[in-house]
Amino acid sequence: MFEKIKDIVGEKNFSDNLIDKYIYASDASIYQSLPSVIVRPGTVEEIQEIIKYANKERIPVIPRGAGTGETGGAVPVDGGIVLDLKRMNKIKEIRIGDVLCKVEPGVVNNELNNELKEFGFFFPPTPGSGRVCTIGGMIANNASGMRAVKYGATRDSVLGLKVVLPQGELVSLGTETIVHSSGYQLARLMVGSEGTLGVIVEATLRLRPLPEKRAAGRAMFYRLGDVGKAVSAIITGGIIPSALEFLDNIVIKSVNEVFNLDLPKNAEAIVLFECDGNKASIDYEINKIKKVCQKFGSFRIDISDDPQEMKEIWKIRDSAFPATCRYKENLVRMPLAEDVAVPISKVSDLIVNLHKIGLKNNIIIGTYGHVGEGLVHTAFLINPELSEQWEKAKKAISEIFVLAQNLGGTTSGEHGIGLSKAPYFKKERKRALNVMRKIKNALDPNNILNPHKLMDAPDDFLTATKIRYAVRE
Ligand SMILES: Cc1cc2nc3c(=O)[nH]c(=O)nc-3n(C[C@H](O)[C@H](O)[C@H](O)COP(=O)(O)OP(=O)(O)OC[C@H]3O[C@@H](n4cnc5c(N)ncnc54)[C@H](O)[C@@H]3O)c2cc1C
Repeated sequence: MFEKIKDIVGEKNFSDNLIDKYIYASDASIYQSLPSVIVRPGTVEEIQEIIKYANKERIPVIPRGAGTGETGGAVPVDGGIVLDLKRMNKIKEIRIGDVLCKVEPGVVNNELNNELKEFGFFFPPTPGSGRVCTIGGMIANNASGMRAVKYGATRDSVLGLKVVLPQGELVSLGTETIVHSSGYQLARLMVGSEGTLGVIVEATLRLRPLPEKRAAGRAMFYRLGDVGKAVSAIITGGIIPSALEFLDNIVIKSVNEVFNLDLPKNAEAIVLFECDGNKASIDYEINKIKKVCQKFGSFRIDISDDPQEMKEIWKIRDSAFPATCRYKENLVRMPLAEDVAVPISKVSDLIVNLHKIGLKNNIIIGTYGHVGEGLVHTAFLINPELSEQWEKAKKAISEIFVLAQNLGGTTSGEHGIGLSKAPYFKKERKRALNVMRKIKNALDPNNILNPHKLMDAPDDFLTATKIRYAVRE
């Protein structure tokens, strides 16, 4: 059955080898399921041919970028063809005159930004995985990061897309203009569709000028409860920093121990901030943020516009992921309910109650993240071999999603739904599920593109597909 697929991409770009299947069975989530074959197309025409054949033969096709997704989005639940798009990694055009660029889906975020730097421009979403994740994966997940507080998520930088639809048709969506009010916003429909509606084969992206200058700061707080209040006051006080992050004391302890830092042990939280622009605007904004932090009880504030010192300030945040992964022997960081988001006025309630959920369920949950966007990462640290730890985690996850939704928030602020968050997403969007299913059925009547994801994912996140851990009773 797969001989035809091999003919399309050539032997070199086709694999049904068991080792490759294991590599492509997982992304950065807890899930694992083997594909039937892996293909690495090099052209749009090859993708069209693959999709047409798969549609005729009813074979699932799972688009894949770098596989850094944390929700199982690129995991082939029913096997099928994993379409690895990393070979399609050309930056096709940089048109500074129109403040845009055109790229293939496999271009890596940081590599694009390195190219753009020479022109004095950048593509703003700044995911922590920027060194590896692809533009296709970022669009499919509507990724964002530290700079979203000022520049928006990936969706805000997508002007147009070329997409191969599930029956093989190639369509051009969106425009090359910064504004357009011409009809359905179909490019936006593809943003966040997680590979279920089409394969993104080209993106036209809006660029922003690199700022003349940046300055950063860190404010230490004795009380976790004061952080959310300070953040809300900064945002509603008319300042839009280019980054506004926080870390709780579990994360502070991790980075202190793992990276030999000497952040105050008695700080319950640290707020990190950055402003960009020119000297006058930065001085004004930094000063205002400093005053707000002092008003809400910050006991120490460090500020710098020196590039080396700024690096030191951001080192805490950059180290948060690897440090929490090594918090304690036998504990593994699990990507579970890791990116709930709430309206800004509710950030304080979110942070404080997340902490209570950890304590109540006797489970370690470090919290940090893009608070300026209302988004908090929850680093679940559990021993994945113990079933009782999973039971506690499951209970805590459920409580976190209920908390976020009760605060008017959402299941996922940036990582997407995939498999792990589907039950909660379905509850949150119950009034829109019908519309989503109609769109999916209209574009993909044979359900070949990334089946069992989003609203079609199974309800039990642990048995939805196999997890990568051997669990002892
Ligand atoms: C250490 C770490 C830090 C992270 N930090 C952030 C962060 O700060 N912000 C953030 O938003 N995310 C973050 N992530 C999550 C992840 O990096 C993002 O979701 C990223 O956008 C995924 O890109 P990818 O190329 O790895 O896509 P994959 O994981 O390969 O795929 C993700 C989804 O997109 C679909 N897809 C991929 N390419 C295409 C295409 N061309 N057409 C259609 N569908 C496609 C897949 O089917 C899948 O559903 C982080 C992950 C890790 C491991």
